[in-house]
Amino acid sequence: MTSSARPFLNRRLAEFGTTIFAEMSALALRTGSINLGQGFPDTDGPEEVREAAVRALRDGRGNQYPPGPGVPELRAAVAAHQKRRYGLTVDPDTEVLVTAGATEAIAAALLALVEPGDEVIALEPYYDSYAACIAMAGGARVPVTLRPREGRFHLDLDELRDAVTDRTRLLLLNTPHNPTGTVLTRGELAAIAELAVERDLLVVTDEVYEHLVFDDAEHIPLATFPGMRDRTVTISSAGKTFSFTGWKVGWITANGPLVSAVRTAKQYLTYVSAGPFQYAIAEALRLPDSYFDGFRADLHRKRDLLGDGLRAAGFEVYQPQGTYFITTDITPFGEKDAHAFCRALPERCGVVAVPNSVFYDDPDAGRSQVRFTFCKRDDVLHEAADRLHRMAP
Ligand SMILES: *Cc1c(COP(=O)(O)O)cnc(C)c1O
Repeated sequence: MTSSARPFLNRRLAEFGTTIFAEMSALALRTGSINLGQGFPDTDGPEEVREAAVRALRDGRGNQYPPGPGVPELRAAVAAHQKRRYGLTVDPDTEVLVTAGATEAIAAALLALVEPGDEVIALEPYYDSYAACIAMAGGARVPVTLRPREGRFHLDLDELRDAVTDRTRLLLLNTPHNPTGTVLTRGELAAIAELAVERDLLVVTDEVYEHLVFDDAEHIPLATFPGMRDRTVTISSAGKTFSFTGWKVGWITANGPLVSAVRTAKQYLTYVSAGPFQYAIAEALRLPDSYFDGFRADLHRKRDLLGDGLRAAGFEVYQPQGTYFITTDITPFGEKDAHAFCRALPERCGVVAVPNSVFYDDPDAGRSQVRFTFCKRDDVLHEAADRLHRMAP
């Protein structure tokens, strides 16, 4: 934590400091290193989508407060996207809510749905905002740890089942999963759905990497499983899918009463955001399949490029089936402390990564794991691979 916050920060947030991304990005800047820490692309998204934003700005669409639930064009495009990709029917007027990125959607969902003292189960290692948002909602975080086996991370369904108690209100899921790259299978999702129905749980699913799945992995929204339509809040966003992480356009889809509940919290967080960008993302969601296929193929290639480089440099690599991150293990270097490793890496070879240990409640669980992103230009990835290779054990 920055020392200045400590005397003032309330008890709910006392355990949270500056995010690891701020720390590591500052380190990258100071040392002139290649930043494979924070997951943002170094190439902007489609030209026609940028042009659509410019047109909206010029035509005065969205320059004043857009409607609270989001502009109708974007809500219609989200509904059409869910139908086209997954066969899910959602009513654009009552079952879609536009948010300031997935980040606000997560915050609003937890603030709206969690009572103080409720237990919230989250897959660990988790995206860093989950812990803070559960805390802000007054909930109690219950991690279920994904564990590496045979080269990738797995969810232990028995462990998940055992984590549910009478105080469990909600499962907070993320698939494709950041940082491990795991994509929950149809079988795993079916078991989760059965558990949610049996124990009458709400589920919030963070699906921001829905379009980034590789090999034979398939992204299936949990909301499509029996009994889940009316107990699932599905979250996605334009940042990752269209490479506009700065626009902060996200959305939820859920049934009417759940959307109303989340909107109640959301309206007092930002009220509305990103007016002109909402029109542009409405057009982006209607891009032909060739855009989504091309994007996926491009990232697939980048995954293999960086993965090969990391293996050649001596890392143990957990092959991701989704997202744009690779989790590695540094044990082959004779090292165990990922945080110390990441602090030293810029000096050693001019590359920045992030330690997964900060994404765990039990830092021992991820002690030797380090995450790299591959959403960078090929020349940057080649250069990073060369630099890492120079320090091979
Ligand atoms: C990037 C990311 C988000 C945040 O999405 P925004 O739309 O930028 O707010 C949420 N969840 C996960 C898992 C992410 O990786």
